[in-house]
Amino acid sequence: MGKNKTTGVQHISYRQMSFRKNLLKLEYVLVSLFFVFNILYLVISKVSGDNTFTGEDYILRVVVIMIIEIFCVIIYRYINLSEKAGDETKNRVCCLSMYGILAAFEVLHYGCSPLWIAPAVAMIFSTFLVDRITTILMLFGALASEALSVFMCFSDDMSLSGLRINEAIAAACFIILLFAMSMLLFKFNEIQSDDMIKYYDGEQELKEKLEKEYLTGLYSRLAIFEKLKVAMHEAYFSKSEIAVAMLDIDYFKKINDTYGHDKGDEVLRRLSSVISQYMDDDCYAGRYGGEEFLVVITNNSKRECDRILNGMLNNFRNQRYDFLPEGDIITFSVGYCMLHDYDITPERFIKCADKALYYSKEHGRNCITCFDNLK
Ligand code: GH3
Ligand code: MG
Ligand code: MG
Repeated sequence: MGKNKTTGVQHISYRQMSFRKNLLKLEYVLVSLFFVFNILYLVISKVSGDNTFTGEDYILRVVVIMIIEIFCVIIYRYINLSEKAGDETKNRVCCLSMYGILAAFEVLHYGCSPLWIAPAVAMIFSTFLVDRITTILMLFGALASEALSVFMCFSDDMSLSGLRINEAIAAACFIILLFAMSMLLFKFNEIQSDDMIKYYDGEQELKEKLEKEYLTGLYSRLAIFEKLKVAMHEAYFSKSEIAVAMLDIDYFKKINDTYGHDKGDEVLRRLSSVISQYMDDDCYAGRYGGEEFLVVITNNSKRECDRILNGMLNNFRNQRYDFLPEGDIITFSVGYCMLHDYDITPERFIKCADKALYYSKEHGRNCITCFDNLK
């Protein structure tokens, strides 16, 4: 029981996964926009008679840059979908590809100084994806691509006007400021993630405690009923087998009356520990009432259900108790029902198992009855 528990760390991993998914969509949009932008640039230059952007040189650069950008997206998509790559690798590749796209666009339009800070935006993403090393790498990357753009401006003019130097220094300062902010955000994000992990794990623990019945540690009546509802729903869609069994200790009132309530409790705990030995992803149980237990068995044939329940029955009747006279045993009776009509309600399904249990009680107890055999 409870094998598929989600931890806080996994929760953070899901969050990052959805963040990366959205970032991939953003990359598609960015690359498409840049493509349209570059084409518009060409068209406008042609119409206005400005030869700067119509030369073969520029067209070749656009093609190379577009190839780099598409390559970044493809690599990111490939790594993000890969099952072998871990979260850390995916996060890094995600930020690096975003950096690649922005830096390529910046270098293509190196004359446009506001774009000198564009690649630094990737630092923000690496901050959210909690990776300090990548953020530092982004800082150097952003400064390097800015330096390249400034150098290309310088090569064009063979001189840097005072204004350009001011712009270059301002952009570099802005990139460093963004980095400092990223580092602060990083710390905050780290604390927040730790808190979220603790909160999530605490909440999961509390949920599990509430689901469990305190004396036996099995599911509570409400929890097992909810589990049955979900299992019936799943069985309906997968057209798989599902059975519900009702177990009831024989002459339990007599045990209580003869040996006391404490000993009765001991018997209840003993039965739950026997049932627990048969629990797995396809078999789970809850305490349905005083000395009644509900067992749900999924993805198992009638023969398998019979085998599981027989195992429980034999195991329980072979238990020894200090307070019982030598040779006395305690048993239980079972009634179970296989689901044939997927339209019936969980209440009716349980009722069928209950009818079969009643039959077991009336026919000597310490035995198993399948509802199908009553018809
Ligand atoms: P049958 O074989 O027909 O099932 O007889 P029975 O005596 O087991 O059935 P009955 O329903 O009359 O008795 C159930 C008893 O279970 C009555 C109640 O005092 C006892 N019981 C219910 N909850 C608890 C509990 O948590 N601890 C203990 N010790 N006894 C409980
Ligand atoms: Mg009873
Ligand atoms: Mg009973």
